[in-house]
Amino acid sequence: MKFKVNEVFHSIQGEGARAGRPCLFIRLTGCPLRCGYCDTAYAFHEGVMRELDDLVAEVRRRLGPPRPGPCAPFVELTGGEPLAHPDAPALLRALLDLGYEVALETAGSHDLAPVPREVVKIVDRKTPGSGESHRWLESNLECLVPGQDELKFVLCDAADYDWARAWCAERRIWERVDVLFSPVWGRLDPAWLAGRVLDDGLPVRFQLQLHKLIWGAEARGV
Ligand code: SF4
Repeated sequence: MKFKVNEVFHSIQGEGARAGRPCLFIRLTGCPLRCGYCDTAYAFHEGVMRELDDLVAEVRRRLGPPRPGPCAPFVELTGGEPLAHPDAPALLRALLDLGYEVALETAGSHDLAPVPREVVKIVDRKTPGSGESHRWLESNLECLVPGQDELKFVLCDAADYDWARAWCAERRIWERVDVLFSPVWGRLDPAWLAGRVLDDGLPVRFQLQLHKLIWGAEARGV
């Protein structure tokens, strides 16, 4: 079983409830979406073909034996859009079998049903400002595991904020999973977004992309 891999890198998880934890990232090549603010366009085509066993062996070598504890190293499959690879669920299963915590970053445009339940799913609900909100699969909401998975909104402007707030309220989704509100880097003022979250009393987690604060917005492999 082969995968086109853009990069494998060890870094700090920059987003979500696990922000700040050391993490090994596997970035698969390819994405059928074209979000206006995409910061990983280099992963649309660049990559090399690798066997599943080879990838799994690299993860084992670089992370060492699995350790228990809330800050144990973990592995995340990202992209591009990792679920554009039909065999991605098999790769996730192989990583789980190593004994690590495993996360998946996905746009929610592909069916989550084949993804193992134990995989931490960080699902990006695309907003109108991204230009790709119509790709969303509503049935994916049924696959989100309360207390484990996260639903992320990357907001371009005030209209996106109003849309995301209404979308969440209609489904009362924040009563079921952790909801993340994040500004598009360099486009929406973080202070404005933080102020709106507080003023409106939204039960969401405000976040910035920690890796961009550390290494800059243009850095790759972080
Ligand atoms: S889904 Fe992610 S990788 Fe694909 S275009 Fe949008 S931001 Fe870029």
